[in-house]
Amino acid sequence: MGFGNWDFKTMDLTQLTIKEAHNGLRNKQFSSKDLTLAYLEKIKKSDKELNAYLSVYEEQALIQASEADKKIAYGNFGMLTGLPCAIKDAIMVEGLKCTSASKILENYVAPYDATVVKKLKKQGAVILGKTNLDEFAMGGSGENSAYGPTKNPHDKTRVAGGSSSGSAAAVAANMACFALGSDTGGSIRLPSSFCGVTGLKPTYGAVSRYGLIAFGSSLDQIGPIAKTVDDCRIIFDAIKGKDPLDATSIEPEISNFKFQISNLCIGVPKEYFVKGIDPEVERIIKDAIKKAKNAGAEIVEISLPSIEFALACYYIIAPSEASANLARFDGIKYGFSVDGKDLLDVYLKSKGKGFGNEVKRRIIIGTYVLSSGYYDAYYNKAQEVRKLIQQDFAKAFEKVDLIFCPVSPVPAIKIGERTDDPLSMYLMDIYTVSVNLAGLPALSLPAGKVGNLPVGLQIIGNHFQENKILSVASQIEIN
Ligand code: GLN
Repeated sequence: MGFGNWDFKTMDLTQLTIKEAHNGLRNKQFSSKDLTLAYLEKIKKSDKELNAYLSVYEEQALIQASEADKKIAYGNFGMLTGLPCAIKDAIMVEGLKCTSASKILENYVAPYDATVVKKLKKQGAVILGKTNLDEFAMGGSGENSAYGPTKNPHDKTRVAGGSSSGSAAAVAANMACFALGSDTGGSIRLPSSFCGVTGLKPTYGAVSRYGLIAFGSSLDQIGPIAKTVDDCRIIFDAIKGKDPLDATSIEPEISNFKFQISNLCIGVPKEYFVKGIDPEVERIIKDAIKKAKNAGAEIVEISLPSIEFALACYYIIAPSEASANLARFDGIKYGFSVDGKDLLDVYLKSKGKGFGNEVKRRIIIGTYVLSSGYYDAYYNKAQEVRKLIQQDFAKAFEKVDLIFCPVSPVPAIKIGERTDDPLSMYLMDIYTVSVNLAGLPALSLPAGKVGNLPVGLQIIGNHFQENKILSVASQIEIN
């Protein structure tokens, strides 16, 4: 979108990308206050139906906007100054409620900023509110929220995808200029694919997890959801980096070299195009691969032989880590509490009433596979499989620069379609979880539509190859 001739007085400012909005602010065509008011208006109009936001902070957003306007007036500002964004409600913003879409945290107020939020605030971004998600980020459809499902802006009878459902829907419906999500097994990529926006899951460790409510600590990663590839790059640049408060974070060495698709080799895993994938989705992904080929890329078939165990491996490791991380929510420490006759009774009743079914299911599975007698058979076995999956990718990246594959085997499903069948819900994660098990970066890029439902192409890179992913994605992006 070029905006050279646009009349900013009459146009809808919420359609602008980060780059466009930044240029408009820079050229004083509108203020951050104008921009923020336009988004707040859009949220009021659209979010009753979509349920993308769990909380909106009008007054605070307008204060942040006027502070940003001052910075802009002084000429002292960055790419994100004055730009209104949304934050997944599993990421803490000081003084704002942080529920992780759980009843057990219904009145919890974050005592400090997550490092990513601190970085956004330092740049002068405006925080509109906190977005809906599957409770504790456990889910693929956005339906596991204790506060109701997020609806897909392209078809309100369908899910927005999870777990960062609200962040993706907010960007897709122009209710935020950009958003932050988190991805443990696909939660940035899947909703981005379903909602037709661009989402980047960075390399494990490239972005600090400090202040993210933990789900699976060896898998969790915060990342951007935006309208374009360039916008994702801008946000990633703003939030990445080593953080003394997260020992697993490192300073990524990411070059700005502009990779040309015609010099690159792209791998297509043969195990990813088997029975179960929607034929229309398969066609869209194969068309995207053809497009890369026509642009000069070398396309080779690769094999990831251990990938068939990725889902089983993930659904042992993620619940194991979740069961340990969620032990702290006991009805004593975080507000929500149900009276009982003794301490154990308080624990049982508070957890029983505070957690939803999916979270309980994960805690039970995790506790079971970690218990003595089963630990070796399940948890240790899963760790071994994780190693094999990592080795499969390492071997593939000796030959190829990037991997192209689907994000999800299906477009957005109907609300309620799979809620009674957790296993069929987990199947939607079949193409995404292995990336987290291997700690790799991956992007979901809008590639086409089935009817009016968007479908994302997944581009996976080797560790810290975000720049290569983003360079190539911007060369095949549909404008
Ligand atoms: N859908 C996956 C799960 O339910 C991934 C969730 C996520 O990435 N947070 O665990």
